Amino acid sequence: MSQTTAPPPAQGSAADDPARAWAPAGQALLAALAARLRDPLAGESAHLAATLPGRAWPAPGAIPLDLSAPLPQAGRPADALLAQALPLLLDGLPPPDHPRALAHITAPVDPVAVLGSLLAAGLQANLGLRRMAGLACAIEAQTLAWLAELVGAPALRGGLLLGGGSAAGQTAVWAALARACPGWHEEGLGARGPRLVAYASAASHHWLDRALRLAGLGARGLRRLPVDAEQRLQPEALARALAADRRAGRIPWLLVAHAGTVGSGAVDPLAALAALARREDLWLHIDGAYGAPYAALQAEPGGSDRLAACGATALADPAGLNQADSLALDPHKALHQPLGCGALLLRRPETLPAAFADAPPYYAEAEPAADPAPDPSQCGPENSRPFRALPLWLSLQAAGARGLRASLRAELDGAAALRAALHASPAFVCGPGALGVQTFRPREGGDAAVGRLLARLRADGHAALSAVRLAGPDETTPAANAPRWLRACVVQGRGSAAERLARLPAELAARLDPGAVGD
Ligand SMILES: *Cc1c(COP(=O)(O)O)cnc(C)c1O
Repeated sequence: MSQTTAPPPAQGSAADDPARAWAPAGQALLAALAARLRDPLAGESAHLAATLPGRAWPAPGAIPLDLSAPLPQAGRPADALLAQALPLLLDGLPPPDHPRALAHITAPVDPVAVLGSLLAAGLQANLGLRRMAGLACAIEAQTLAWLAELVGAPALRGGLLLGGGSAAGQTAVWAALARACPGWHEEGLGARGPRLVAYASAASHHWLDRALRLAGLGARGLRRLPVDAEQRLQPEALARALAADRRAGRIPWLLVAHAGTVGSGAVDPLAALAALARREDLWLHIDGAYGAPYAALQAEPGGSDRLAACGATALADPAGLNQADSLALDPHKALHQPLGCGALLLRRPETLPAAFADAPPYYAEAEPAADPAPDPSQCGPENSRPFRALPLWLSLQAAGARGLRASLRAELDGAAALRAALHASPAFVCGPGALGVQTFRPREGGDAAVGRLLARLRADGHAALSAVRLAGPDETTPAANAPRWLRACVVQGRGSAAERLARLPAELAARLDPGAVGD
């Protein structure tokens, strides 16, 4: 280089360049997020240990902000806005990693995925059309293949990332319907519509009712079957219902089985149900939105015993999830992704374009034969599609299969410790529970005692629990006046400390009405 060469122009500071004025605000935001997030895949941080116990969360109704103001006419700098919004949001929303946030299957998020989300948002790749984002579509395909590999389901060869387990299930239902209704594109349900009948247990999630209703089938199109004492679908009951429906001239087409019900974590007997589905030519959708990831544990020594011990024998079976025609698995639950990430995996991914494909006239630039693979927008309900795969793709690699299994294992071990302590507690009786979910209620005082304990916990913030009604034996849906059970869902990743959860029943008992503890 000659000495006369001018130095490169100094990097313009953000202050000089209005288009980059947000950069310092972005750095401050990253620093604030980094201080708040604990990595559920890496274990418990010093920060969390230092803030225990008694990190409360805000009351649901408290909105510490006047939200009635009209849209401002003049703009404001991003740093001032974020400086104002950050403390409000960080204090005003429940911390995702609270160690006793057990109310819902909403897990703390992997910080690597948070960074991936920021990156995905900034890239603005649109995964609807392969020609707009071929690399991103290929990353999504690899991510789906990794999920199938992780849970031991290599026969599930492709699919989509969607907004959640509900969207995944609904998409599967539409694909299954297209298969069940010849002439689907022209005739819709056609003459077969009124005779179609789908099957699921009394413990199924309401996405199924909604999907069938919106498909024009209504409640008559779903036969709910009673569950056993552990909330599992009984194959004999299904076989009887199938025979009766066929005799009555109805057309069975879909069976929804569970790998982890939302109410109590129950895992249906997948092998027996898959055999029935094959024999009867039913599409088998496995709703593993919550529980499917735990099948990853079958690959490690002792993993099958661990699964069996928490009521998930069917996930210890290598055939398990691999028998599905379609599987819903929510990475935004036990895989610690930001909300809005549900995977649909299929044995025959080509059934998706059979249900969804159109040839819109405004996408005329593609040569029809140039890329034989259908665009993702022709495989599901979404047109423009976000890069949901990026956070997950990064996160799966950052943790590795071993790191993911360690997190899943910690959740089951934490739930096992809680379950054992509840069984040993004189203050509570246990209801059904499997995987990381356990139901229980105070031994004395009925529903009112359940409500009072929830209210006290809301007030003092020691722990968050929820309440569920469950179908009793021979019921096909939980009765409106069925008893309420408290529900604890352990999805804290490697922060699911067994010792801490084992102490919880005594801490809860201390919050019951005086005299309610039966010892
Ligand atoms: C969470 C859950 C769903 C719904 O999934 P979303 O991601 O909330 O749409 C469906 N089924 C089961 C078993 C679930 O646990």
